[in-house]
Parts: sequence; C-alpha cells; structure tokens
Amino acid sequence: WKNAPDNLRALLALARTHGQREFVIYEGERVTYDAFHRAVARLAQEMRERGVGKGDRVGLAMRNLPEWPVAFFATEALGAICVPLNAWWTGAELAFGLADSGARLLICDEERWLRILPHRDEMPALEHVLVSRTGAETSVDHPAERLEAVIGAPDAWSSLPDADLPDADIAPDDEATIFYTSGTTGKPKGALGTHRNLLTNIFSSAYSAACAALRRGEVPPEPTHKVGLLVIPLFHVTACSASLMGNLAAGNTLVFMHKWEPVEAFAIIERERVNVTGGVPTIAWQLIEHPERVNYDLSSIEAVAYGGAPSAPELVRRIYTEFGALPGNGWGMTETMATVTSHGGEDYLNRPSSCGPPVAVAELRIMDPEGKRELPCGEVGELWAKGPMVVKGYWNRPDATAETFVDGWVRTGDLARLDEEGFCYIVDRAKDMILRGGENIYSSEVENVLYDHPAVTDAALVGIPHRTLGEEPAAVVHLAPGEQASESELQQWVADRLARFKVPVRVIFSAAILPRNANGKILKSELKKLFAA
Ligand code: ATP
Ligand code: MG
Repeated sequence: WKNAPDNLRALLALARTHGQREFVIYEGERVTYDAFHRAVARLAQEMRERGVGKGDRVGLAMRNLPEWPVAFFATEALGAICVPLNAWWTGAELAFGLADSGARLLICDEERWLRILPHRDEMPALEHVLVSRTGAETSVDHPAERLEAVIGAPDAWSSLPDADLPDADIAPDDEATIFYTSGTTGKPKGALGTHRNLLTNIFSSAYSAACAALRRGEVPPEPTHKVGLLVIPLFHVTACSASLMGNLAAGNTLVFMHKWEPVEAFAIIERERVNVTGGVPTIAWQLIEHPERVNYDLSSIEAVAYGGAPSAPELVRRIYTEFGALPGNGWGMTETMATVTSHGGEDYLNRPSSCGPPVAVAELRIMDPEGKRELPCGEVGELWAKGPMVVKGYWNRPDATAETFVDGWVRTGDLARLDEEGFCYIVDRAKDMILRGGENIYSSEVENVLYDHPAVTDAALVGIPHRTLGEEPAAVVHLAPGEQASESELQQWVADRLARFKVPVRVIFSAAILPRNANGKILKSELKKLFAA
C-alpha cells in the first residue's frame, strides 16, 4: 500500500508497466498499454505547449472512444482538471457545462462539436478545440482542429515516440475532475473531485474484497487478467472511476461499445471471452431476458455488477441461476466518485435487497430529516456517508455545497436503513418518497413486489396528487413479451403481500421499458406526467 499511486499521474506510470497487454478494444481497434501511454504523452505535450497547466479546466465530450481515456489522462498528467460532459446532452446543455466550468480547451467528437458550435459565443474562456474522428469539411468550415493531427488514429499510436510526460507536480488533494451529477432531481451540479477521491475508489473495493475473504477464513485470490465489457458511458463517474481506472490499475482489458445493444454485446462476449460486465440494473436485465442470449457462448462471464439505480432482488437470483455468474452491486453518487458500498458473491445472494456494507474506508450513518440526530439501527432515515472518496464540494455552488457537505459527511438525499451487521438498504430517494395521508411509502418496496410478478419486467412507483391524502401511489409497468396481466390483478398481487395503503391506486401499462436517463435512472417526473394526462 505504501507504493500505491497517490495521484493519477502516478497511476499512469503504473499503467505504462503493463506494456504490450491490450488496454482498450473498440470495434476493429486494439490499443495496448504502451500505445496508450505514447498517445497520452504526445497529447499532454501538445496541451502544455498550448499553455494548459495546473488547475485549468479541460472539457471532454465524446462517446466511449479510445480517445476518451487518452484525453482524460493527458489532462490529469498536467495537473489540470478534466470536465467530462454528458454525451447525450443537447448543445445548450453542453454549452452550460463548458461555460460553468470555464474550460480553456475542449476535446470532443464530431457529433458533440456540431451540437456545441451554435453556442460557441457562450463560452468566452474556451481557446482551443480538438475534434476526433471528424471529416475534413468540419475542420475547414469550423474553427476547430483535428485531434488526429496531434496524436494520429488509434491504430498508429504504437508508432508515436515513447516519450515521458511533461513535468508536473501533483499532490493527492489537488483537484482532478468535475463530474456533473445526473440531474435526476434538478439541474446537474459539478462535483469537484481530487486525485485522492478517484484513487480511493479504485483501491478500496479491492481492499474490501480482500478483507471479506479474510473474514471468511480464505486467502484473497491472486488477481488474474480480466476482460471487461464497458457498456456505460465514461462521462458517468462509475464508468470512469470504477471500471476504467480499476481495470487500468490491474492491467486488464476493456472492450468499449459505440452504443449499448444486447445482441452486439453477446457477440463481443463470445469473441473476446469477456469475464465481467454490467453497469446499471437495466443492462443486466436486458442481458438476461434477451431471447438471442441462448445462441451465444457466454460461459466466460464470471460477474455481472451494477449500481447507480435501485435493482430488484429478483435480478440477483436470476443472474446467478440463469446466467451462472456472480451478481455485484455498489451504491454511490457523483459526490462520492462512485463506490461507497460494495456487495457481491454469497453475501449478495443472501441479502439481495441490500447494496452491501460500506467499503473498508467509508462510514455510513442514518440521520433524522433535520440532520440533527442519528437514528438507531433498523430505522429508515437519510443516509450520510463519509470517507476519502467524498468530494470537496460543488463547483461554483457555495449554497448547495454548504447544504450537502457537513463536517466531512455528504448528505445523500437517499432514504436508507442499516442492519445489525452494517449492510445498507436503500429504500427510496427522499424526493420520491410518497406520503399518503401521513403514511410513508417507499417506492422500492412496492416496485420489488411488482417485479416478483411473473409477467412484469420493469416497474416504477410514483406519487400522484390527492386532494385530502396529499399523495397516492400509482405504478407504471412494462410486461415481458407475450405476457398478460390486468390492472386489478397487479393491485391484488400487491395487496396480498403489502399493507393496503401501499397498493397502487392506478396501474398504467407501458409498451416499452420505462424512460431512463443516460445513467440508467428511471425518469419519474416523466411518468408523473402520464398520470396527469
Ligand atoms: P442529481 O443529484 O443531479 O439529482 P443523481 O442523484 O441521479 O442526480 P448520481 O450522482 O449519478 O446523480 O446518482 C446518485 C444516486 O443514484 C444516489 O443518490 C442513489 O439515489 C442512486 N443510486 C446509486 N447507486 C445505487 C444503488 N446501488 N442502489 C440504489 N440506488 C442507487
Ligand atoms: Mg444526487
């Protein structure tokens, strides 16, 4: 542990030692650790020549391309702050992120650049734009340069000079990233993370897994080379910190996909002998339920892990029984640079509605709504989290920072309980909890019962206004292909299992799976509109 990297530049030096192992596979492109390091060094040199230095913000807006980690690490190697932007954002939203962060340099792909271009005047601090994979027309018509002119195409990175990084002095608590929250409950906020925050995440899960093995009286297994299939976007903190960086530290291979598509994922799993995949619960569901699954050899898969959104206990069982893989779950938020709790293996199979105990370096507590009093074990209240992964605060948002970050704790806005052994159970977001005439209804409890119905594959509970009760629960469900269920049948199903006041007063059937944002979270505000309509 003494020799573990304490900043991302040092992590990059560790990555360089993995040499000719493959780091990223993307469509026909295969990039080794050595080639990756050459591209990072070349780009960092170019950025330095353009005056990018410590504390400067660098926007990064692209899909999961091999250029993404190159741009990220070139920024980190200089001690600058990387600002990954949501690739699904509109031009106006991307412009907000660039203006809010005051980025001097933007590295993006062509699709993002064309969206941002009409808003170019809204970002006075932006001096340079490097666009990857762009046609000649774009670079002639628009004041941007081609990234390939600096580092070449991924296939050619191995022939770049094997240069060292330009000098930079970086301390563990220096600022490294601004990741924006998903905007599920309001306008996205930029969480200002440090090198230590990100690195904690990489090593704490591995450390916790080793501790768990020791508790069971087992010797922690020697790490072996793994192939991971990354299906969630890198601009989401989990993909960047847990998947990208954890795998990079271990010298693993990651396969990127242009766009999530289950059948293509099956083909990749078979071809590349993928060991680990997942991301968010919806993706795990789609892997299990897709009828094409049986036509592929998926025997290499060892684990399907996810987080970021509530998941049904049924998913845990089905990953194990139908997929023959170990399920994994982690709870975290952008403000904690992802993982705070980590759950897997037998522990998860035995407690499928928990998101696990805190990782070894994190603390959790459950507080009353005013944030004054810690609640006893077993009671539901607001979850607070503390540890070296908690960010300094929000970028440019002193009021929100003061409200959310209290004495090293982050107030998560999630409602949860802890059991006697310290396992955490998320029951709802405080903003989504339904208050029906004084009775609390936690969405996940009712949603999990709906999920248990054989016909239901997707479900969400929302509160709809009621004149005297305040709110009533209502459900939107999506049925598996060919399955049938009526509103009254589903209401009866819930009534047989839960208290009367929790039974949805209305059930709407959705022909498609429920609408989600880029990070896999159900857009409950959209669903409420269905009932209003
Ligand atoms: P915003 O803060 O802008 O409203 P957001 O909270 O959705 O958006 P993120 O930081 O991406 O933005 O998500 C963190 C939230 O995701 C957590 O507060 C929690 O509600 C949910 N979440 C994360 N992991 C899990 C999990 N394993 N189980 C249940 N919920 C989870
Ligand atoms: Mg949040």
